Amino acid sequence: MRTIRTIPELREHLQMERSAQRTIGLVPTMGAFHAGHVSLMERARQTTDVVVVSLFVNPTQFGPSEDLAAYPRDEQRDAAMAAKAGVDVLFGPPVEEIYPAGFQTTVTVGALAEPLEGTQRPGHFDGVATVVAKLLNIVQPEVAFFGQKDAQQALIVRRVVRDLDIPARIEVCPTVREPDGLAMSSRNAYLEPAERERAVALRRALDAAEQAVAAGERDAGAVATAAHAAMAPYGVEPEYLALVDAESLAPVDHIDGEILVALAARVGHARLIDNTLITANQTNGRP
Ligand code: AMP
Repeated sequence: MRTIRTIPELREHLQMERSAQRTIGLVPTMGAFHAGHVSLMERARQTTDVVVVSLFVNPTQFGPSEDLAAYPRDEQRDAAMAAKAGVDVLFGPPVEEIYPAGFQTTVTVGALAEPLEGTQRPGHFDGVATVVAKLLNIVQPEVAFFGQKDAQQALIVRRVVRDLDIPARIEVCPTVREPDGLAMSSRNAYLEPAERERAVALRRALDAAEQAVAAGERDAGAVATAAHAAMAPYGVEPEYLALVDAESLAPVDHIDGEILVALAARVGHARLIDNTLITANQTNGRP
């Protein structure tokens, strides 16, 4: 695996690969790798000839009171994990390479960026959309891989690619979880042992929502009530817990077709998010 720090060096390397007729896959990340990241790298390895992983803690997607400075960073460990997963190029630029002096252009996302995370993290998705558009332009991959864990981000990335005519296919990969159901996240590192036990509340809420719909409940309010009740014993209060249309993210009252149940909650110092897709008349395939 090669580690590359600058855009010209990366472009030159990938130009060589492209002229040898090799297809390129991109996995954008902020590092602090876990099995969720590795699953995206492995999927890219199966799908494309040259796997590029970007490792960039993007300052523009963090709000002023968020965890940019504290965000876990361990590039040596990340590089070893990426190499083991068969990654060809680790692109780890310094901040000035992505945002040089004079930088002043931003991708602004419309309605999809407003609900859910958008209400809690103003400006977050403009930061995400801008850096993803830049990375797609820099790497020009055939396919870029994202996680369903960040469901709203995945929808927004698909929207940006369509709206800006970026010639990449976006593949969204399933959420990888700990054995007790907690979605893997770099932010799980913030959890103290007692908090780690309570963090399973998010998955339990989603389980309860899935079970309610599987049992025939179609009223979104009733499903949300069941999900809230499942979290309560853990002493975890959601920042939001929403049943929304899986494509538009508009709130739904009645469950018909595919919906997304999305939630966020603070557990100790960690702000955690999770979600599940539910299709009325069947659950999402979980055993
Ligand atoms: P991050 O480094 O947190 O920005 O995440 C980089 C990519 O990994 C994003 O596309 C995330 O959606 C994805 N990802 C994060 N956690 C998981 C997970 N538990 N399962 C699958 N993908 C994930």
